[in-house]
Amino acid sequence: MRGLTNIEKADARILFESGAACEHCGGIHQRACPRVKRKAFHPNGNTVEVEYFRDYSRDGIIWPEDAYDPEDETVDAEDASDRAG
Ligand SMILES: [Zn+2]
Repeated sequence: MRGLTNIEKADARILFESGAACEHCGGIHQRACPRVKRKAFHPNGNTVEVEYFRDYSRDGIIWPEDAYDPEDETVDAEDASDRAG
């Protein structure tokens, strides 16, 4: 995941703390969850079954560790490169 600005981190922390993180992948993303392959709904609206992709794109997902970065104290441009995977 690319490095977030401090403003983006603050926004993401608000979302995590308000329980807005995705129930399926645990991150925050703007579009439909990229992890969800298929959902089945009961007629009453409840989700009765969710099928997940084994591999899915994490691009654009903000994880808790991105929002709560313990390395914030030491701002280092180099640490953006080792987040992939
Ligand atoms: Zn998700």
